[in-house]
Amino acid sequence: MVLEYYDILEISVTDDKEVIKKAYRKMALKYHPDRNPNDKEAEEMFKKVNEAYEVLSDDNKREIYKKYGKEGLQNGGYSGFSGADFSDLFGDLGSIFGSAFGGGFSQRTRKQTATFSEDLEFMLNLNFKEAVFGCKKKVSVEYKSYCKDCNATGAKDGKLQECVHCKGRGQIFVQQGFMAIGQTCPHCRGSGQSSTESCKSCKGQGFEILQDDFEIDIPEGVDNGNILRVSGRGNLVGKDKKRGTLYVQLAVEEDDHFIRDGDNIFVEVPVFFTSIALGVNIKVPTLRGEVELKLPQGTKDQEQFIFKNEGVRNVRSGRKGAFVAVIKTIYPKKLSERQQELLKQLHESFGGESEPHKGIFENICDKIKHWITK
Ligand SMILES: [Zn+2]
Ligand SMILES: [Zn+2]
Repeated sequence: MVLEYYDILEISVTDDKEVIKKAYRKMALKYHPDRNPNDKEAEEMFKKVNEAYEVLSDDNKREIYKKYGKEGLQNGGYSGFSGADFSDLFGDLGSIFGSAFGGGFSQRTRKQTATFSEDLEFMLNLNFKEAVFGCKKKVSVEYKSYCKDCNATGAKDGKLQECVHCKGRGQIFVQQGFMAIGQTCPHCRGSGQSSTESCKSCKGQGFEILQDDFEIDIPEGVDNGNILRVSGRGNLVGKDKKRGTLYVQLAVEEDDHFIRDGDNIFVEVPVFFTSIALGVNIKVPTLRGEVELKLPQGTKDQEQFIFKNEGVRNVRSGRKGAFVAVIKTIYPKKLSERQQELLKQLHESFGGESEPHKGIFENICDKIKHWITK
């Protein structure tokens, strides 16, 4: 696989963001149309440089590109390079070249596309069980669809003219001291074109909002914060386009009893102190039924008993996590006279004394006394 973006910017695969940024500036200046008038080859290179930078400056896209190349980006919902905002980079360069630079730059790289992205985000709430076991979830998603009457331009009959505010550059320059800072023109939102009359169908927005009702398959084992990609359910930006990608962010409710930590599930099991002292068999409810737990004598409060493969099935590996029962000792709040009597008898049976650990306690007292008098 040829990773030509790195060659275009003349950098290596391991270079960091700073290096990429520097390389981009250098190459963009070298091939900039203002410096290479009527040079088709330079214009072509300038486009490629921008394309390379758009991918390599974005961690996500860069990762996909490294693994799958250009095709990966096209399959991954990043098809088309819809003109990222480079004004932050060219702000200070603008001051070197003056406004002509900004003008030339934005005019030549601009594409007439909709002013909204084809990617769409959606938040979906799931309860604990739905996330652990997966489910089918009916959703109703609102998406943007380009306005057919104005072809997403927002102008009446799609007729646009040069934006008077930025003179068609798409950028305006704000003088700050000695510097002219380039900004995306707020009147035409960087397109360089505006309309004298708005499209009536979309009120000049360029899109209409449509509702889409469908079912999403939630796989077993998803967790809070996971994002599901649903292709073909995003926004529709133009006539010859397909609908983009819908990114569904999952928000999972907590359960009252089960506490989830990744693929492991913790549950607190209250056990009466006499049961703990005697050692008993108890049944513990798990995600998929119940497990039998033989509590040994001498079990401590907060002691954990681990059941492998009784946790959540990992959404990627398919391996199940553990189920952990955490023992919580329960003591009676009140004792009847008979219970007190029985406990006293039990107590005495351990040492015969009313204070079986008296010896140890006295030792400690002596020690402290020794420290104080010293
Ligand atoms: Zn403008
Ligand atoms: Zn319209």
